Amino acid sequence: MLDILRRIVQEVSAASDLNAALQVVVARIREAMQTEVCSVYLFDPEVKQYVLMATEGLKQTAVGRVKLSSSQGLVGLVGAREEPLNIDNAPAHPKFHFLSETGEDPFLSFLGVPIIHHKRLMGVMVVQQRESRQFDESEEAFLVTMSAQLAGVIAHAEATGDILDLPSSNKASRKKNARFNGAPGAPGVGLGHAYVITPAADLSAVVDKAPDSIDDELQRFDDALAGAREEIKKLGGQLEGELRPEEMALFDVYLNMLDDNALGAEVKNHIRDGNWAQGALRQVVMEYVGHFQKMEDVYLRERATDIRDLGTRILAHLQGNEDETSAEDIPDDAILVSEELTPSMLGEVPAEKLRGLVSVKGSSNSHVAILARAMGIPTIMGVVDVPYAQLQGLELIVDGYRGLLYSSPNDELREEYQAIYHEEQLLQQDLLELKDLPAETLDGHRIPLWVNTGLVTDALRSLDRGAEGVGLYRTEVPFMMKDRFPSESEQQKTYRLQLETFAPAPVTMRTLDVGGDKALTYFPINEANPFLGWRGIRVTLDHPEIFLVQVRAMLKASEGLNNLRIMLPMISHTNEVDEALHLIYRAHAEVREEGFEVEMPDVGVMIEVPAAVYQIKELAQRVDFLSVGSNDLTQYLLAVDRNNPRVAGLYQAFHPAVLTALKQIADGAREQGTPVSVCGELAGNPLGAVLLMAMGYDLLSMNATNLPKVKSVIRGISQQWAQELLAEVMQMDSAPIIVATIQLSLEKAGFSRIIGPQGSSH
Ligand code: PEP
Ligand code: MG
Repeated sequence: MLDILRRIVQEVSAASDLNAALQVVVARIREAMQTEVCSVYLFDPEVKQYVLMATEGLKQTAVGRVKLSSSQGLVGLVGAREEPLNIDNAPAHPKFHFLSETGEDPFLSFLGVPIIHHKRLMGVMVVQQRESRQFDESEEAFLVTMSAQLAGVIAHAEATGDILDLPSSNKASRKKNARFNGAPGAPGVGLGHAYVITPAADLSAVVDKAPDSIDDELQRFDDALAGAREEIKKLGGQLEGELRPEEMALFDVYLNMLDDNALGAEVKNHIRDGNWAQGALRQVVMEYVGHFQKMEDVYLRERATDIRDLGTRILAHLQGNEDETSAEDIPDDAILVSEELTPSMLGEVPAEKLRGLVSVKGSSNSHVAILARAMGIPTIMGVVDVPYAQLQGLELIVDGYRGLLYSSPNDELREEYQAIYHEEQLLQQDLLELKDLPAETLDGHRIPLWVNTGLVTDALRSLDRGAEGVGLYRTEVPFMMKDRFPSESEQQKTYRLQLETFAPAPVTMRTLDVGGDKALTYFPINEANPFLGWRGIRVTLDHPEIFLVQVRAMLKASEGLNNLRIMLPMISHTNEVDEALHLIYRAHAEVREEGFEVEMPDVGVMIEVPAAVYQIKELAQRVDFLSVGSNDLTQYLLAVDRNNPRVAGLYQAFHPAVLTALKQIADGAREQGTPVSVCGELAGNPLGAVLLMAMGYDLLSMNATNLPKVKSVIRGISQQWAQELLAEVMQMDSAPIIVATIQLSLEKAGFSRIIGPQGSSH
């Protein structure tokens, strides 16, 4: 059976279109199961009908003509129950529906299985036989397996617009709206055309292969070497004066390594031994990397990264990926699609052309989604079914509220979404009027609204929207945009810009928070459980040189402004705070010795690990302020990887356990007299902001896009109203009920327009 299955799957995958694929399926299954009939009925959700799409054994004239309503016949029963039906006398079944067009009356045995793709019913597959018998277990299992395979094929066909008009549609011109489910990444709707970005060259993915011509491969490799050499010279030239001499020396090291007598010669030997250039390159680079990684000396060990980087550059030339994408290739209404979006990809499309983002991997809480929210770009994460590589140029609609992606929409759907888009623009326009008004409730409770930043553009957008300070500047974002660690003076310039933009308002700079789903290409961390591994403060305390350079850059940047606050991420032990404080004092002393007139900034700790909740007193006593990272706190409390689309449904920001922890933090901080804020995404969700204000948080920090919405809600309610709502939901034991309760209360209070379509506050 397994062999047959594999053969059918191969044949189906090679089929030119959906019709051909369905035909292969029914023919091969009938043959394999030695039955008389095999048919596929597809379900058209728009008209709620099954249509016979392919058959072997029934009359071919029935294909496209036979239709069943969703509750009709045995097919309807299989679909409704979403489980197989295996009976030996179909006509005797009360649900049996006689279809004269199919010539089906003589068939007694019937086995039908639903075709389901990620919880969505796509159709029903049926085998039938004249003689009365029950299909055995292995036959049933075979058909179930086939139908699961077929579901994927149908979903693919839908995405690429290949799905035929189901004949149930009377209007021949009507096109299907292929729909894919993901998680809401950033709210809003985007209409445009797909622009697919493929990942950078990946050395470890290169296979070995015998070359057609050794000479051609040698030539190809020489060309790639020359290309990489040029690139490095150019890069070195650009950075001249920005880097210290010892850092500049690295470029010479690179160039030397590319020399014909070094790495190049070894690769050529491997090519002559019969591997193609890409394979030979991988072999040599990986050998070097392995060799360096084993070295005792930390400096030499880190050179492994340089060699890998160099190898990747050469590989990009070999694969022809080195060209910068030219602006003309990008549609004016681009929806950026990628298997895994990264922050640096966001920069590849000019902002004025960017309408939406789609990522196959990741979930709402991935960092790239957080950046997208800050930029106000509708985004869908974790659209696992979408055959992204085939979407290039297709018309798409991104529904960032519900996490839905549509390809090749029909006129009706397009118009519906255009209307939502216009409504949104109007709302944003109206909200701008709140810019200079305070976030104050009807009964006079004032709660400052600060902003989270990271990208350069965030700062300007924040001021436009009336931010009163920066509650979280994610310094890792500028680090992620580079292809090496930024130097102290580079960092100083970047930080100065932030501090100046907001001065005299405070700017809270978080020390480098990499690891987890935030990777630096030039500092790879490979771990089985990255969110439980080397992350945030754990990395920087192990690398005091990185930490000290960063803190020194922050301090120097604040000279004359004195609006800097420093915040430490991922604290799970008090000694981490002590150690970090010690380094900050040291950096402060050094900087002052160098002649910079800077005051010691306020230092705070992020509460984002459950252990920190239980040590709130000890932590509060050590620092000037606390700030809750509710994104990580939720992930760690619920044991749900914030980046994994498979468990995204379990990531509930309003889980009663999360709310209880948040309340406990606010109470604990108040007891110690230490100011406490929230800078996780919950603070920027109007539903969450209301609860947090009621819990007594001193300030909320959020993305610039949501700030006016939160302000509008706060100005329209009283603190007492919020506290009553909080008391009510703290009695509840289920996140969806809590969300529904807050949503309903806010709708009743007149905020439907602000909350937006259902599904945006999960
Ligand atoms: C958080 O964890 O809530 C947070 C604000 O930090 P980040 O999302 O960058 O991990
Ligand atoms: Mg965090």
